[in-house]
Amino acid sequence: MIDQSADAIPEGLIATRVCIDGPDTYPAFIDPTETFGSRVVPYFTLDTVRQLAHDTQAGAAKHDPRGAAAIHIVETTPDRNGEPGRVVLHIDWWQEANVGPEDAVLVVAPNEHGLYPIGRENWHWSVAWWRCACGTANEWHVSQCSGCHLTRTAQPDKPTPCDCGCNPELGAYGEYDTTSSASRQHFVDTGRFLRHTDRTS
Ligand SMILES: [Zn+2]
Ligand SMILES: [Zn+2]
Repeated sequence: MIDQSADAIPEGLIATRVCIDGPDTYPAFIDPTETFGSRVVPYFTLDTVRQLAHDTQAGAAKHDPRGAAAIHIVETTPDRNGEPGRVVLHIDWWQEANVGPEDAVLVVAPNEHGLYPIGRENWHWSVAWWRCACGTANEWHVSQCSGCHLTRTAQPDKPTPCDCGCNPELGAYGEYDTTSSASRQHFVDTGRFLRHTDRTS
């Protein structure tokens, strides 16, 4: 089974996280040449497909069980090596309820890496973003912030109060120096940019 660590990324794919429009994001592999505007085609491990099955079925049950699509996994009992067979189904319950079952079920076959392109045809997956302490939003797989020297995994826990002599009162838009490296470093350390007046005093 493929995990999401760097040495297990299939050639040509990028390990990232994707989302549709809610706060839920899922680990996935994407092919950077297979994008349609902001839409991407994610390839998921079986573990993530299980999570998607859980979340889509729970979402459908909560909102409209006959109006949503959901992922289902049908498994056989294990063979003599202990391996179950399985089929991943993408079921459009709206179609089933309103048109009939004939075209309501799509089998999602794994690719050669055992990864499942859930929602490849019509789910609007996009790459998730992470917001750095400096305020810059970066695509999930961009691990080093494009706006400062921090990385996604080394974000400061909490801004600490500053004793450098800067003005701790909340300033207004335009008062802060957001470009100099001294001010950016101050932001990283304290959660607050220096004012232009702090810099000159
Ligand atoms: Zn940053
Ligand atoms: Zn300060």
